[in-house]
Amino acid sequence: MPSKYMIDTQAAPNRFKVLTRSGIIAWEEGCLKCPVCAKRECIYGVYDNRDLDIMQMVDSIDNQCMNCLRCVQGCPKELIHKSVNPEYEALGDSYWTPEIITTLWSQAETGRIPVSGSGYSGPFSGSGFDSMWTDMSEIVRPTRDGIHGREYISAAIHLGKTPGHLTFTHSGDLDSKPPFLVDIPLPVVLRIPPFGPMGINTIKGWALAAKKLRTFLTLPYEMIDKEMVTFKECLIPSISPAQPYGDDLLEGVRLVEVPWGEKWKEIAQEIREAHPSVLISCRIPLAMGMEEMFLHLLDSGVSIINLEGTSSGRLLDDNSVFIKDAIRSIHLALVERGIRDEVTILVGGGLAMAEHVAKAIICGADGVVIDLPILIALECRMCRRCTKQLPCPVEIDQATSSWVASRTINLLGAWHKQILEIMGAMGIRDVRRLRGEAGRAIFFEDLDRNTFRSLGEVQEGYELE
Ligand code: SF4
Ligand code: SF4
Repeated sequence: MPSKYMIDTQAAPNRFKVLTRSGIIAWEEGCLKCPVCAKRECIYGVYDNRDLDIMQMVDSIDNQCMNCLRCVQGCPKELIHKSVNPEYEALGDSYWTPEIITTLWSQAETGRIPVSGSGYSGPFSGSGFDSMWTDMSEIVRPTRDGIHGREYISAAIHLGKTPGHLTFTHSGDLDSKPPFLVDIPLPVVLRIPPFGPMGINTIKGWALAAKKLRTFLTLPYEMIDKEMVTFKECLIPSISPAQPYGDDLLEGVRLVEVPWGEKWKEIAQEIREAHPSVLISCRIPLAMGMEEMFLHLLDSGVSIINLEGTSSGRLLDDNSVFIKDAIRSIHLALVERGIRDEVTILVGGGLAMAEHVAKAIICGADGVVIDLPILIALECRMCRRCTKQLPCPVEIDQATSSWVASRTINLLGAWHKQILEIMGAMGIRDVRRLRGEAGRAIFFEDLDRNTFRSLGEVQEGYELE
């Protein structure tokens, strides 16, 4: 299979013991000393292989237990219990839930799609991306011979402006400048996370992953030192007006990011003049009034716009609006004006799972930018101790660059497989065709409105009889 359609992954073991969802509590008091203890009956030998990791002060029992509950049921005095691990429950926050974090850990370790057992026991609907479902009507016949068969499913996108048409001379040569586009084999660009104790090996590892995945890593310009120069072709330096930049370091770079701000236009113009072959991407905050900013950028010839929401997938100035709704409204506004292909829309903030990538694209994005998932891939527990200058419990800055790269590639490899599964089940073989395909999704808000609107509105405090 052409390398464009697949991502090679290799197991990259955890450096620290994973926090498991449940823990075993085995009381000794009241033990009957049965001739065959229920603990000895464990077919996985969990109690026999039990060990204490002195460095991490963790009992290995919880990591080995397969949750069959045999010992719990087998103890006649009910001295063995399984309970939810409070450390697990304390992981992350209401958006970056323990389930999401442990799923990302597993994907980064194995490079595989996580299998959680038969059936789905989660809620029917939720907020944000959880309020939309994709149409999997082709799930019984994804392609003629499977997801990884002869009919490839492409997750590749291009960054830049797509010309409306091409003109040719009488002799058949292109009569205009060839369109300047950059291809990436998956619709995901990496960005340095907003926090975390990152050492040079961490940054190098992410750059190495971006290089192997043939995508990009966005990072502040000042982070590009002599060591990082070798990764130039897969870096997007982000240039802020406060930070002077040198032209020599931009030589060989294919994309540059200019965040929206007072001087963005001057900086973009300077770069364009000095490096005509560099694509300019502008990062703008997802906030009220962004449509105006957006159209202003388009008029200025910017061909890549990166919309940035909060880490919980909402507008920066209105917590009640989710990025999925903002993307939809911008995409539809551009379609109505007939200028959708003049710009590549990348969306960042709150992209936590592979399904979020597919859903963001269905809402109208071309691709996404992820930051926190690549930190969580390195075993981050989202405790945010590093933001208070406290030591990181998983010593992220001590990881080697090759381990960082493997974990990141595994995460993206698992996401890539999931995106292919989603597209296969939807009967779509090219992710570019998924863009704006809102007709192939169901939105809870629409469903709710269409089903219950005829019943009228219930005021707050009104009691139904
Ligand atoms: S729950 Fe099952 S796997 Fe876990 S320790 Fe008990 S018997 Fe072993
Ligand atoms: S584990 Fe905690 S301290 Fe370490 S990077 Fe993650 S949030 Fe920061």
